[in-house]
Parts: sequence; C-alpha cells; structure tokens
Amino acid sequence: MFDLDRFIRENIKNLIPYASARSEHSRKDEVFLDANENSMGDFSTMVEGFHPGMNRYPDPFQKVLKEKISGVKGVPTGNIFIGNGSDEAIDLIFRIFCSPGKDRVIICPPTYGMYEVIANINDVRVCKVNLDSRFQPDSKTIMESIDGQTKLIFLCSPNNPSGNLVNREIINRLAASFNGILVVDEAYIDFSGEKSLVEDLYSRPNVIILQTLSKAWAMAGLRIGMAFASKPIIDLFNKVKPPYNISTASQIMAIKALNNVGIKNQWLRTILIERDRLSCELSRISYVIRIYPSDANYILVRFSDHNQVYKALLENKIVVRDRSSYPGCEGCLRITIGTREENDRVLETLKRF
Ligand code: PMP
Repeated sequence: MFDLDRFIRENIKNLIPYASARSEHSRKDEVFLDANENSMGDFSTMVEGFHPGMNRYPDPFQKVLKEKISGVKGVPTGNIFIGNGSDEAIDLIFRIFCSPGKDRVIICPPTYGMYEVIANINDVRVCKVNLDSRFQPDSKTIMESIDGQTKLIFLCSPNNPSGNLVNREIINRLAASFNGILVVDEAYIDFSGEKSLVEDLYSRPNVIILQTLSKAWAMAGLRIGMAFASKPIIDLFNKVKPPYNISTASQIMAIKALNNVGIKNQWLRTILIERDRLSCELSRISYVIRIYPSDANYILVRFSDHNQVYKALLENKIVVRDRSSYPGCEGCLRITIGTREENDRVLETLKRF
C-alpha cells in the first residue's frame, strides 16, 4: 500500500500555506478592499486592446481554465494543477517531495535538461540511468538503483531529444512497483499516434503526468503547464504554489484558445506531414548518418560532421539545437519541425552544403 505521507518533505507536511485574499471571497462580493489593489480603474479604457479587470489579482485556482482543460483532457478538475509552464510543476515536485542534501531522483538521459537543473537548484542528488540504444528506459537498472532516499523517477514520453515514446509496459511496471513518485512528462504526447496515459494513470497514488499548452496547443508564450495526479498530490501542489501563479491574461487567452480544438488539430496534421517530408528528404543527404523516428514535433538527426552542419545552418540564420554532448546523441542535432517554408530553407541549406 503506497503511503503518500512518507514521501512528503517534513516541512511541507507541517506548512501552514499562505491564504491569498482572493481565495477567501468570491467575485459575487462587491467591494474589494482586501488585497491592496488599485481600485481607481484599469488601462482598458485608455489602452486599445487592453483587457478589463487587470487591476485585480487573478483567480488563484484557475477554476474556469481547469473546467476547460478538464473537458479537453477527460480528467476531473480536482485532479488538475496548473503551473507557470510545466517547468514550475517540475520545480514544485522537487520542493514537495525532496529534502535538499538528502534525497535522490532518478533520471534517464538523454532527456529534458531541466530535470537535472531543477534537482541541482534544489540540492537533490541525481542518479542517472541512461536510456538503452533504442532510447528506452532500462527498467532493471532503474529498479536496482532505487534506494531508501530515492523519492522521484522522471520519464519523458515522447522523450526529448530522441523523440520516441517510452514503452508503456515499462511505465506501467514502474508505476506498479516503485515505492515513490513516478513523473511521466507528456509534453509532446499530442504529436504521437498514441493515446495519453493520463486517463489511465492520473488517479494512481504515486504517479504525476505532466503536459503543457506550449507545444501542440501553440501557447508557449502564455506559460501554462499541467500536472494531473491524485487529489492528495494536487492538494500538495496548491499548498506550495505561489498564490497567483497564472496571470489573468494567460487564463483568459488559454480559455479562448482551448475552444479551438479544430485549429490545433489542423496544425498538428500539417506538422506530422512536414515531419515525414523533412525526414524523407534528409535521408537522401549523403552526410546524414541517421534520422531517429519521431513521435514529437522535432527530429533527432545524426550527421557525419554536426559542427559544420550547425555552423552552415547558423550562417543561414537557422537555429537548431546541438544535442551532441548528450549520451547516445553523439553527432546529433535536434531540428524542430517548422512551417513548410522554414523546412524548405533547412533542406536547401543542407543540400547546398
Ligand atoms: N517537458 C519537456 C519534455 C520539454 O521539452 C519542455 C520544454 N521544452 C517542458 C517540459 C517545459 O515546458 P513548459 O513550456 O510547459 O514549461
């Protein structure tokens, strides 16, 4: 039986959270003199395009946005946390569960760099169990690496930068056997042909699924990330988060955008077509050694001389990500799928090179 209490940092368990002024009273009240806001007015009457009501603090628990996300994702609102990007959710996970200087996290390189950076910021020891040659987790070594201080395991599916989905059996096995918190980062899941694991796993007592509106939903500038988890874990996120972590502007715009599933799906289809086209065209280039199959909106490509390729692209004002220092990614650049014109520019540059 998983006992969540055993995994919460002692000071967080005992924390008396900040009660924000706006969480105590509803909008039905009329005179708000509780939050030291400016009641004189706001810029909407003076600045074109400015949304009214910005002189007031935002809804601290993003009720309407959560209802929208709940409808799109099929997860009850009580099982959703919204962060200032999923990076905020990752940071909070470390702060809720890991005692600095004492606890450990297992990550599986090559993977998203922020897991390690946030662990380092929080002074949490990082145990690295590299993905195998097919970029799948080595579940046996992961299980052998778990010790009494291992509070978290991070898996990223589809994985950044390799682009592949993580084998679901491995995720399910770890969820069932790890006595700690398993975090599955599904930032790129919409680009894969597979269903998200969120509906199957969000209510598990030891699993947190991360997603974001920054990728398929095209809202990276709004900074909206989601964590889906059991109610007790969501309560912990709410206990430690800054009171007003999602701005009113972000909440309003995300609510509007989420009404447009059709537009998102159209973009998605185009990105997938472009991903296939770019992969196919790249495979014809002699100095391309390998194109890794992708379930995401980027492809990892190994070149015979990635430094020269990187430079040539930069000279043509095209920026890609050099991932060659990551384990298993020697000689590799990660190329995000752009518009047809942007991808053509990459191809022209590489064919000329
Ligand atoms: N997870 C992964 C795997 C990512 O690649 C990224 C961003 N590149 C994030 C999380 C963070 O996303 P957000 O914009 O929601 O902070």
